[in-house]
Amino acid sequence: MIEQYIAKSIACACGKTHRSRVETIEIKPNVIEHELIDFLKSKAYKKLTVVCDKNTYRVAADRVCATLEQSQIPFKLHMYQEDSVLPNEHFIGNLAMGMALDSDLILAVGSGTINDICRYVSAVAGKPYCIVGTAPSMDGYISGGSALIYNNLKLTFETHTPTAVFLDPQILSHAPKDMIAAGVGDLLGKINCLTDWRLSQIVNGEWHCDFISDIVDAAIQKVVTGSDQIAAGQDEAIADLVEALLLSGVCMDFAGNSRPASGCEHHMSHFWEMRYLLEGREAVFHGTKVGIGTVIALRAYEYIASLTPNFDRIKALPHKPFDEWEQDVRGAFLGASDEIVDLERKSGKNSPEKLAARLASTEANWQQIKALAEQTVKSELVYGILKQLDAPTKPGEIGVEKEMARQAILYAKEIRDRYTVLQLLWDLGELERFADQIITDYYA
Ligand SMILES: [Zn+2]
Ligand SMILES: [Zn+2]
Repeated sequence: MIEQYIAKSIACACGKTHRSRVETIEIKPNVIEHELIDFLKSKAYKKLTVVCDKNTYRVAADRVCATLEQSQIPFKLHMYQEDSVLPNEHFIGNLAMGMALDSDLILAVGSGTINDICRYVSAVAGKPYCIVGTAPSMDGYISGGSALIYNNLKLTFETHTPTAVFLDPQILSHAPKDMIAAGVGDLLGKINCLTDWRLSQIVNGEWHCDFISDIVDAAIQKVVTGSDQIAAGQDEAIADLVEALLLSGVCMDFAGNSRPASGCEHHMSHFWEMRYLLEGREAVFHGTKVGIGTVIALRAYEYIASLTPNFDRIKALPHKPFDEWEQDVRGAFLGASDEIVDLERKSGKNSPEKLAARLASTEANWQQIKALAEQTVKSELVYGILKQLDAPTKPGEIGVEKEMARQAILYAKEIRDRYTVLQLLWDLGELERFADQIITDYYA
């Protein structure tokens, strides 16, 4: 299915020409021994740097090395010896100093972190890179950005996309269960991304592409209907999951930004991630947090569906002055506040003028908004699938305290200038009440 979308230009009815930058994606059993080697030979690479950690060496990189030796393709193995690898200055520097300077390809063997590191180092070194994936845990394999920790802040660096991605369903289905559940969580998040995107089209007239949203929607359906088989660890269902995750990556490339694959569920996940990092706490898988955020986001749409707003009353509500807003934000974002405050200064998304314009449009389009909220997938469905996979469904289950959960609902929308259901609730003066409802329910 995915082959039809890559390595070509698609002239779309939305007015854009869509193009994915990745050349090859192969999801097949024994892909290391066959498709990977055929690809490397066809490209005539002279020397590789193979990057892995102790775990991914055991599950795939040893096979990669053995096959390269057999095929007489020269390589240098760069294996991290630490139990926990982070995408920070230390591990990036370690690869930069350890890679073979004469290598003409970096081959990442791993999932999220190894890829973020290799994507960045290969971009800085001006070398192409390819991936042998080891877990269906997130949607970032073919992303053009690296999520890195720099000065203790998680930042996205624009880098480049991999040339090719190779995935063996038999390896993926043996990934730890919580990593597979995280992949499902990241993918189920797309339900809310598509709804947030449509909502912004209605309220703000934001560009929207049905071709892209249909691809993502079909990927979601496949994972929802195959959730029993995914929970049972069946190779085919796991292959569908990873293909769905890759498709959402292709769709980000098509859109030219992350709109089709990142809505307020991701913003809440980013908020918790940032706070955990600032507080030196152990990281939680990206997709695990996204799954929890998705349940909250879909509950936000259920809340919207239940409203009958009095727009005259809403328009007369007092507007919080910038100084007060800044104080609240600094209380929530702590050491990462400057960026958030700068973003608001630039975007002015909470300014009285922008709010008034959005409210006028919200009022004019209320029936359409309400219908969208009523038609979107119910939070119960996502909750049920996460439960089935023994995945956390509420912030408290990953150690997020009551106040931090409330702050995520109230302030996650400040992380990006991207309209979502949380901004809609804020515009309507309902965000605090919604947060209280969730917190009372979750932390009773
Ligand atoms: Zn389009
Ligand atoms: Zn994600």
